Amino acid sequence: MPRKIETLVLHDSSTPVIGNVEKGGSVVVTSIDYLLNQARANSLWPLTFGLACCAIEMMSTVAARFDVSRFGSEAFRATPRQADVMIIAGRLSKKMAPVLRQIYDQMPEPKWVISMGACASSGGVYNNYAIVQGADQVVPVDVYVPGCPPSPDALIYGIMKLQDKIKKRKFNKLIELTPRKLEETAV
Ligand code: SF4
Repeated sequence: MPRKIETLVLHDSSTPVIGNVEKGGSVVVTSIDYLLNQARANSLWPLTFGLACCAIEMMSTVAARFDVSRFGSEAFRATPRQADVMIIAGRLSKKMAPVLRQIYDQMPEPKWVISMGACASSGGVYNNYAIVQGADQVVPVDVYVPGCPPSPDALIYGIMKLQDKIKKRKFNKLIELTPRKLEETAV
């Protein structure tokens, strides 16, 4: 996938003027993967979903001191239908696990999961019958943020790591769904 954006200036006078280019227009040549990945990575909307003390640190990321809006992620959504990243902030009890899974299933694709803190990632200090020993037993986790609790800047670093992962994503499914491929599949 091309990582570089080339800018070309067209010499055709009928080309509409874009931006502050006086003659011709600017054309950006890139791939749809690159465009979609950039848009998605820089507008991750987290689900409002705090489970324990780690959630306080998660809330701090939105406040003025850490200001996660610099990374496009300040719009915490109260409904899974509008969220694309679930931040599991705190210990996950076995009673809550089916609820977490249901909420995850209600999030539209593509979606990602950040496991925040030792409890969410491995059970932490709660090695007992009531706590799930790792959220990845319930949902697929993309990024683990270590700590007890992780600081807000550690969570922001986790979001940046997730952004890196999204930017490398390839939309092979789009290619698979071309009409020709569908015909081949039907045969
Ligand atoms: S990792 Fe620490 S701060 Fe986070 S939920 Fe567990 S005990 Fe609380």
